[in-house]
Parts: sequence; structure tokens; C-alpha cells
Amino acid sequence: MRLIWILGDQLLPSHPLLPSPAPDLLVGMIESAPRGSHLRYHQQKLTLLYSAMRHYAADLKKRKFNTLYHHLNDSSDQADYSTVLASWVKQHRIQEIHLLDPNEFDTLHSLPTLSKKLGVPVQRHPSPQFLVSREEFQSWAQGKKHLLMETHYRRLRTERNILMTPQGLPEGGDWNLDDQNRRTFREFAKEKPKVPPLPPPVKDPVVQEVAAQVSKLFPHHPGKAADLWVPTTRQGALDWLKLFIHQRLEKFGSWEDTMVDGELILFHSVLSPFLNLGLLTPLECIQAAEKAYRDGKAPLNSVEGFIRQILGWREFIHGIYWLKMPEYREVNFLGADRPLPRWAYTGETEMRCVSQAIHGAIDHAYNHHIQRLMVLGNFFLLGGYEPKAVLRWYSELYLDAYDWVMVPNVLGMILFADGGFFATKPYAAGAAYQDKMGNHCASCQLDPKQREGPQACPFHSLYWNFFGQHAKLFGKNPRIGMMVKLWEKKTPADQTQIRQNAQRFLNQQA
Ligand SMILES: Cc1cc2nc3c(=O)[nH]c(=O)nc-3n(C[C@H](O)[C@H](O)[C@H](O)COP(=O)(O)OP(=O)(O)OC[C@H]3O[C@@H](n4cnc5c(N)ncnc54)[C@H](O)[C@@H]3O)c2cc1C
Ligand code: SF4
Repeated sequence: MRLIWILGDQLLPSHPLLPSPAPDLLVGMIESAPRGSHLRYHQQKLTLLYSAMRHYAADLKKRKFNTLYHHLNDSSDQADYSTVLASWVKQHRIQEIHLLDPNEFDTLHSLPTLSKKLGVPVQRHPSPQFLVSREEFQSWAQGKKHLLMETHYRRLRTERNILMTPQGLPEGGDWNLDDQNRRTFREFAKEKPKVPPLPPPVKDPVVQEVAAQVSKLFPHHPGKAADLWVPTTRQGALDWLKLFIHQRLEKFGSWEDTMVDGELILFHSVLSPFLNLGLLTPLECIQAAEKAYRDGKAPLNSVEGFIRQILGWREFIHGIYWLKMPEYREVNFLGADRPLPRWAYTGETEMRCVSQAIHGAIDHAYNHHIQRLMVLGNFFLLGGYEPKAVLRWYSELYLDAYDWVMVPNVLGMILFADGGFFATKPYAAGAAYQDKMGNHCASCQLDPKQREGPQACPFHSLYWNFFGQHAKLFGKNPRIGMMVKLWEKKTPADQTQIRQNAQRFLNQQA
């Protein structure tokens, strides 16, 4: 008997190891409570994962596959993967186990030990979940000291013929339309674009059952399982994609970087939870957006911006993970060592921009990219928070969090902990940025214009303190060396004041 083991984040619509049922073939899926407790994963993320797995298994059964399924048990069952597999091997006389290359470094590297323990071969097969294989990325990256997403993205667009003219040029003449995609809150307030509401979650008995088990088994994890708000099936994910293309893609580009108080999603797609589980493929999302452009339904700045996120950033980040692990997890270029602020898991801080983002994460397990990068990421970077603690926080809080995507985004993109292997500068921003791109300052107890006193916005002192602290490292950086020069022009008294303000503020958050 052969067993095809399907991991929870490999729910692919056309699974390459499952062309058709066969009498000597079993398909196995395992919900493991110990794996779900590895970190304090958000309850909605666990609910999404296990519900999607149960739906996927039900579909396989409908297609006549012989399926083995280990359910989360709300008794004291703490079976891990190897215990469940061992019992299946014995019970069903399984002689070999096959699976797609796991998306997680530790899982992939645990397979030889697992095989030894089970006494049967465990064979890996290449996974089609990403457009660029690990080998292709590695051969592209070979010999390069720094990697640029832009170069990778242009190569893929050309080679895969995505958003290109018949002459082999980028549609519209430019590769990058980012300059049209940084519209400010002031412009948003003037234009008042209507943000379409999301459909209410469908009542689904599978989700209800899983949510009840998750809240019982993982009571100390953040969030509320029963509040899961995204679909959990392939069909639901396809409907979600369709809705995004019809209702939000048109305005995606223009308002991609804008932040609006009380608006969780704006025109973002919320497709990452499905892409990362395998319920949607990157190519079908890219093709749907390109079609909308060719049919005249969405402008180029939005379509290029969206395709850049998936074809560009997503594939690039995935490649970096496999290139740099396992050492990547240990990086700490800036020597940051501060423990997380006491309110990291409650959002109870007077900083409105930060508390709004944290509440979004706790209540919905989601923040859009700019809140993750320029509000929370910026705060953790400027405050010198310890990379492993920050990584843990992000990995626990989001619906779409998986090791391959969190490690490079947190350590490389926001914390500059890899010394700039792919980020050309740290994404540091002061109060002026928050005030320009969003409207949280209007309802904040603090004032973005004040630099001193009880109402001063802490982003002022944190920002300058950061450049003062790392002046030697960044003085020659072509993109931010200017900020170091401005720091050096400040009087010693001003510099001391800034340092003291930053230190006092950070101490108060502990
Ligand atoms: C600190 C930090 C942590 C992040 N953690 C995650 C995470 O755990 N899981 C995750 O999928 N994305 C993560 N991202 C990337 C990005 O913020 C999310 O993919 C995006 O916000 C998801 O929402 P969306 O689907 O509405 O995205 P949209 O804004 O609609 O973008 C479309 C798609 O592009 C892809 N994408 C865009 N940027 C990235 C990126 N930097 N890395 C990978 N994919 C990208 C996603 O698949 C996303 O669904 C992180 C970014 C930062 C800065
Ligand atoms: S005043 Fe400062 S802390 Fe408050 S919302 Fe604005 S940037 Fe954030």
C-alpha cells in the first residue's frame, strides 16, 4: 500500500500525486494538536486551516479516493504526525509514503528521521505551489551579493510572458507604476472612493464544529475562532478572487499604500490566506488580473501593482527563504534586543496607528501590507525590538502566516536584520509619513506635529534616535545616508534630548 500524505498548506486543486484513485493508494491528512500549539497561532488561522483540510478531504472522498483522516480531538489526544503515521503504517500495511516538498524548512528536514522511525521510505516530490522552483531561484541568485526583487520580477514577466506586448515590452511601456500607487489620505478624503463591503461569512457546519474545537483546545491563543470571516473551500476562494477582480482591483493600485481608520481591507485582495494554503494558485490570480486589464475592466497601475505583489514579491520572498535557511532565523544585524512592549498582544497603547493595526490583527488576524510594514514593522524596527520575538508575534497573529513568508518579511524586510540582503534600506518612517498616508493621527491622543512634551508623537524621537544609533552603518547608504547627515547636523543638546525622549518612551512601554 502507498500513502500520499497531504500537508495542511498543500490543498492544491490539481494535486500532482493524485491523478486518480487506485486500489493500492491511500491518501492521509493529519490535524495535529501539538503542531497547532507550536506557537500561539491565532484561533481564526487554526480554524481556517483545519476547516479547509476537512473540506479538501471530503472532496477527495467524493472523488473516490481512499482517505485516512486524523481529526483534532477535543479529548486529551496529543498525537503528533509521527504517532499518527506510525499507527497507519501498521494498520494499513503501508510500504511507502509520498508527499510534496514541504513548505517549511523544519518539516522538510525532519523527513529522514521520520522515515527511520516509521521503517518505510518517505519520498518527496517537487511541488507546483509556486511559479518559481527552489532550484530555479537558486540558480538565478547564484553569485549575487544582494538580490533585487525588481530584477527577478522583470525576468519572470519576460520569460512567462505576463503583462507584455507582442513585441516583448512591458504593457504601457513601464515595468513599474509605483509612482501612481502612493496616493495619500488627503487625496482619499477628497475623492471618497467607495469601499465595497465584503460578503458576510457563509454559515458552514464544518467551520462551526472546528471553531468550537479550536476555542476549547487552544484557549490561550489570540482571537476568537468563531469570528472567522473568510471562506474555507476552493470554491469559496474562487468566489473571493472573482469578487476582488470585479469590485476592488480597479482601485487597488491607487489606494494600495493608504491607511484609513476603521477600514481593515480597503481595496486589498485578502487572497494570501488561500494562496498560502494552496486553495488558489498564483497563476490563476495573475491571469484573472491580466484579463481584467485586457478586457478594459481595470487600469494598468492596479493590475501591474497587483501582479507585482504576487509574481514579484511573493515568489521572491519564497526563493529567499529557501536560499537562506536555516541561518536566516538567527540574523540580527542591528543587534536589537528589546523584549516586546507589554501591550503587543492587547493593542492597549495610546498610539492610535499602532493600536488600530494590533486590534485588526487580534480581531481579524489580518492587516494590509502597509500596516504590517510601515506601522507595526516601522515601530518594531525603530524601537530595536528583538528579531525572534517580533518574528514570533507576526507568525502568531495572521491568517496567512507561514514560516516561508514570515521569516524573510520580518527579518529581511522590516527589521533589516540580514544587513540588507534584499532590502536596499531599512523601511524607517517618522510621524509625517503616518500623518500623510493615513488618518489615524486625527483621532490620536498624541500629536504628530509635537516633538516635545506629554503629547509629542513618539515616532519623532524614535526615528531620529534610530539614525543616531546606527549612523555608522547607514551613513554611506545612498538611499538614507541623507538622514544620517541631518542627524549629525543637530546640536549635541538636541541629540541628547532625542535620545532621552526615545529611551524614556521605550522604557515606559516595557
Ligand atoms: C512584516 C510582514 C509580514 C508579512 N507576513 C505575511 C504572511 O505571513 N503571509 C503572507 O502571505 N504575506 C505576508 N506579508 C506580505 C503582505 O503583507 C501580505 O501578503 C498581504 O498583506 C496579504 O494581504 P492581501 O492578500 O490583502 O494582499 P494584497 O495587498 O492584495 O497583495 C496581493 C498578494 O500579494 C502577495 N504579497 C504581497 N506582498 C508580499 C510579500 N512581501 N511577501 C509575500 N507575499 C506578498 C500576497 O500573496 C497577497 O495576497 C507580510 C509583510 C510584512 C511586511
Ligand atoms: S500621532 Fe503619532 S502615534 Fe498618534 S497616530 Fe499619529 S503617528 Fe501614530
